Amino acid sequence: MVISIPKKDVSDRRLAFLSETQKIWLQKARDFADRISLEEAIESDRTNVFRRDLFEAACKEGLGALPFPKEFGGSAGDYLSFVVVNEEFARRCVPIMSSLGVHVLCQEPVYRFGSPEQKAKYLPPSSTGKYLAAFGLTEPAAGSDTAAIACTAKIVGDEYLLNGTKVFITSGASSDYFIVMARLLNSPEGLSNEKSITAFIVEKDFPGFKIGQKFDMLGMRGYSTCELVFDDCRVPKENLLGTHGQGRTVALSSLAKGRVTIAAQCTGWAQAVLELLLKRVKEASAKEQDRLLLQIGEYAVLVESARVLTYQAAAAIDRGQADVVLASMAKMHASDAAMKISTEAMTLLGFESSEPQYLLERIFRDAKAGQIYEGANQIQRMLIARELLK
Ligand SMILES: Cc1cc2nc3c(=O)[nH]c(=O)nc-3n(C[C@H](O)[C@H](O)[C@H](O)COP(=O)(O)OP(=O)(O)OC[C@H]3O[C@@H](n4cnc5c(N)ncnc54)[C@H](O)[C@@H]3O)c2cc1C
Repeated sequence: MVISIPKKDVSDRRLAFLSETQKIWLQKARDFADRISLEEAIESDRTNVFRRDLFEAACKEGLGALPFPKEFGGSAGDYLSFVVVNEEFARRCVPIMSSLGVHVLCQEPVYRFGSPEQKAKYLPPSSTGKYLAAFGLTEPAAGSDTAAIACTAKIVGDEYLLNGTKVFITSGASSDYFIVMARLLNSPEGLSNEKSITAFIVEKDFPGFKIGQKFDMLGMRGYSTCELVFDDCRVPKENLLGTHGQGRTVALSSLAKGRVTIAAQCTGWAQAVLELLLKRVKEASAKEQDRLLLQIGEYAVLVESARVLTYQAAAAIDRGQADVVLASMAKMHASDAAMKISTEAMTLLGFESSEPQYLLERIFRDAKAGQIYEGANQIQRMLIARELLK
């Protein structure tokens, strides 16, 4: 089989933005992707099976906790380095990309809000790949509207009892622990319903915790995305994350960075399609070339603008000035770009382009998820406008 996406990026302008350390992380990501065959990339998508072995191998390369300090096993890289790794993994359709992104997203609140005991217990095994983490926010009736969370927690003796269901949880069926948001019904502080959302660290072996249905989705396959079911799930008191009522802040701390990771992934997908078109234009007749060149010029600008926004959002995080507007702009623009370019490339190249070895049809399916998850793009548009009005 022919690998249609070249190993070296043909228009590597990003190197001009990167420090020597960031280039080392990019090279690590490239070397890792080089070790995965096209057949493996296609297989995980076709069978919808998560490659835990690849996740553990990525952690051995220091990618499992790249942007976190060394104290708890992190690689002490900056966020831009993590962005560059995600962009490259998406560009090459590395089958663990999304789970790695969520895994890092889940460590963020443990670093920021966790007790010393929680940090010591969950972070070192997360960096080595012994533990995989998942993020449980979305529910059947609480997607964009996170305030509608219906999952409940109740204090009973020395424990919390959790009840409810979470849906579309990336890595859900393969994870060892979960960051879960639930409404605390009987807080000693007397929190109102509105202010009661609270975060917990739930382990897969806690009594009353079950994996529900596994989703056989259009895109983002191979990530064991599933339902989480809490049926009087017993969570020890020490697994409260942050304080009672701090759940929305905990969730938002993850999402503000997570959206930049998604933007990087979408930029990588868009770049991959651009490269496929560049390869094809060289083989096309003179008449076809004119048609393709016009489109390629437009797509190149879209990819580069997605990258610039994404790197700017990552650089803001690295300066300690995480910018929610920039993160939303990057996520929205990069996912819209990936969707537009992959859709139009399918039309430009004709039906042959839907054969799996070009990875184009996979990117086309995955890009749709990029427009939806971690806040649908309509919500990002409203968020950007509201922030600008403040
Ligand atoms: C591949 C994939 C992986 C995911 N992984 C996770 C995960 O790991 N953890 C997790 O917690 N969740 C996860 N999700 C869930 C994801 O975050 C939600 O799908 C997303 O927040 C949107 O929620 P929803 O699907 O319920 O859509 P809805 O909220 O029902 O929205 C449907 C549509 O209506 C629009 N809409 C909604 N409200 C408004 C409004 N007020 N104004 C204008 N338009 C509006 C939205 O933009 C959207 O287009 C995942 C989803 C996917 C597709």
